[in-house]
Amino acid sequence: MAQVAPATAKVALGIDIGGTNTVFAFVTPDGRLLGRTVIPTRAQEGGERLMARICQQAAAMLREAPAPVAGIGVGSAGQIDPRTGVCVFANDNLPGWTGMDIRGRLAAATGLPVYVDNDANAAALGEQRFGAGRGVANLVCITLGTGVGGGIISRGRLLTGHRGLAGEVGHIIVQAGGDPCPCGLRGCLEAYASATAIVRRTREALPAYPDSRLRQVEPLTAREVFAAAAAGDPCGERILAETAWYLAVGLASVINLLDPELILIGGGVAQAGEPFLDRVRAHLDSWAVTRGRARIARCALGEAAGGVGAPALVLAAA
Ligand SMILES: [Zn+2]
Repeated sequence: MAQVAPATAKVALGIDIGGTNTVFAFVTPDGRLLGRTVIPTRAQEGGERLMARICQQAAAMLREAPAPVAGIGVGSAGQIDPRTGVCVFANDNLPGWTGMDIRGRLAAATGLPVYVDNDANAAALGEQRFGAGRGVANLVCITLGTGVGGGIISRGRLLTGHRGLAGEVGHIIVQAGGDPCPCGLRGCLEAYASATAIVRRTREALPAYPDSRLRQVEPLTAREVFAAAAAGDPCGERILAETAWYLAVGLASVINLLDPELILIGGGVAQAGEPFLDRVRAHLDSWAVTRGRARIARCALGEAAGGVGAPALVLAAA
């Protein structure tokens, strides 16, 4: 009688390369995490050193993989060409990362198929496969962290655009000629709604609030600003309200352009929670064209999104 080989459950190794930390995780096709390792990115040491450390860590983990490994999915900060796996452009958060052949280097170091995309696209795919967007074919995932990233899932697949650079929600102009953005333009959503921008705007506003408890907070973080808002601090409340306004302005364009069923908000700023999202929803509901067109919710995968999203790139390619 012919032997039937048991179905071998393969896992994917996900690598999420951020400005602060780099996360490695094995994930099963149904989204279970089997081991996760976090190393500091130490971006200031330069792209070459970072790539060498990533290859070393990946090889070490593959030697102790919990199951056969189907491939490696990489979500990286910066603009990534998913067809070549090369970082087209990275800003000062990752010095020396521009031009890095992430796919080529990792494939040479491990012998496995490697799929690379930007971290926001990987997170969007992860949410759609394993998180708050399960079963939703048309969604937009926006991460509000040090910067503002976006990933678009259209008809169940990542929308890539001509050069793989679609989904840059962070650089939608929400205030023409407004505050400078790290991308070099002015008035982008990122210049108002990133954690970095929230801290900057709070510092600019504080002189008008001599009694604000935020004057004593050092280091000032977006988390502290939102905590102050929740406690009724007028400066914190103002910044929360303004951030919700700018985010809603950006989302109105996203909704009108893409008609998503669901918009997921993640990243550190999303930890401001439902009171913040309620303000965003209220603005959108008062604008007739966008009213009720898209559900706004929080990402489900939290800090693990990068680690879980990146292996989704492997599964999506299968
Ligand atoms: Zn920008």
